[in-house]
Amino acid sequence: MNGIITEIQHASVHDGPGLRSVVFLKGCQMRCFWCHNPETISASPQLFFDESKCMGCGRCLGFCEAHKLSNGRHRIERAFCTSCFRCVETCFTGALSVCGRVVSVDEVMRDLAEDIPFYGESGGGVTVSGGEPGCQSDFTAEILHRCHKMKIHAALETNLAYSRAILEKLVAGCDLVMADLKHIDSQKHRAGTGHGNEQVLENLRSLTVPLILRTPIVPGFNDDAGTIRRIAEFAVKLDTLQYYELLTYHPLGCGKAERLGMEERAKPQASPTINTTDYLIKAASETGVPLFLNGRRIVK
Ligand code: SF4
Ligand code: SF4
Repeated sequence: MNGIITEIQHASVHDGPGLRSVVFLKGCQMRCFWCHNPETISASPQLFFDESKCMGCGRCLGFCEAHKLSNGRHRIERAFCTSCFRCVETCFTGALSVCGRVVSVDEVMRDLAEDIPFYGESGGGVTVSGGEPGCQSDFTAEILHRCHKMKIHAALETNLAYSRAILEKLVAGCDLVMADLKHIDSQKHRAGTGHGNEQVLENLRSLTVPLILRTPIVPGFNDDAGTIRRIAEFAVKLDTLQYYELLTYHPLGCGKAERLGMEERAKPQASPTINTTDYLIKAASETGVPLFLNGRRIVK
């Protein structure tokens, strides 16, 4: 069985407990305007152009009309690109590359197997992330299932915006779900992500595996005490909740968006201030929910 991924990251400390290997899948049904991983939104391979590596040699110019060189500066006119990727092979500096590759579950498992010694010692394992792994549910379920069979701790990072049938298929081989609830108000959730939150809330209530619930704090979208308190009140009632985590927005996705020609995502949002973060921590803590901020436990 095949799927499309951007990469397998090794020794990550940000995507679940211990040292983890993280499989980043391509394709997502949401369109969060602040997305930290814009390279995973499209389910297709994309041309990635890193201008800082371009020597202006002009070797790629002959391939198609998308490549333009003026005043020593190379630009790509995306409207002309048909994603044939012939130009990538001619670029010897690595300025042009393909983001996304099709791999089989066997290939993924061979890669993950090399990290097994690290998992045990650190209490880590494998995390399937994205993009949205639920968009490639058979591929994701097979990876999780094989990890589970090999006694590797298997975690899923997900937005939970899919049917109960898909959820059941995914959690069958899963030791931990790390899910986002981006807004408690469905209309605002839709305005920020393109999807209402009804399915997300229903799936959260029905989870039977340990859960870490997270909210990315995005100024102007959900950075008010009332919203965070309501999410924390919802979280504290969930049967399998381990803790609730606030993740502050960072603009690291913008550079990647620019290199992919996603101009509309290349402009950074404002980051939350320390003051804002402090009052959101206070609002969430008052509900009694076990709380983390950016990977650190908040001690009351
Ligand atoms: S991927 Fe193909 S169509 Fe796109 S810029 Fe390169 S040569 Fe042109
Ligand atoms: S082949 Fe690579 S280095 Fe040369 S102009 Fe094209 S992108 Fe730049």
